[in-house]
Amino acid sequence: MSNAHPRALFVGHGETDTWAHAGRYDLVLQSAHHFEQFVEQLWETMQQMPECRDQTTFILTADHGRGSGLVEWKDHGAETKGSENIWIAVTGPDTPALYERGNQADVTHAQIAATVAAFLGKDFVPRCRRLHRPFPMYYKLRSRRETRVV
Ligand SMILES: [Zn+2]
Repeated sequence: MSNAHPRALFVGHGETDTWAHAGRYDLVLQSAHHFEQFVEQLWETMQQMPECRDQTTFILTADHGRGSGLVEWKDHGAETKGSENIWIAVTGPDTPALYERGNQADVTHAQIAATVAAFLGKDFVPRCRRLHRPFPMYYKLRSRRETRVV
């Protein structure tokens, strides 16, 4: 971080998945709590660095959704109800504070690469453009000094 001064930082959280598969809800909660502390430390570190303060977009997510219900929470996949629900958190100088969004168009993890690229002012060109557009949100492309709606 101190050498690279990234414009975008992607953090994918996966440890809770390991504990959920093991059926250890207590450790899922503990892992989630540690992740929150890690994110807080990372954020504070970035804010203490003049090169990163209010300059870096922070993108947080998990690698997939998770089942919901008394047993299903331990697993995920096409057959596990609830797995289709994912979360992503984005904060940074180009992202207005819109808080928790509901009633929005469906998004998928396949859009994350294009979203990160957009924050870097790059146009990610995947093989199947329809499925991999950036997340629908307002963001400003700093390199071009314009605001776009995607
Ligand atoms: Zn898993």
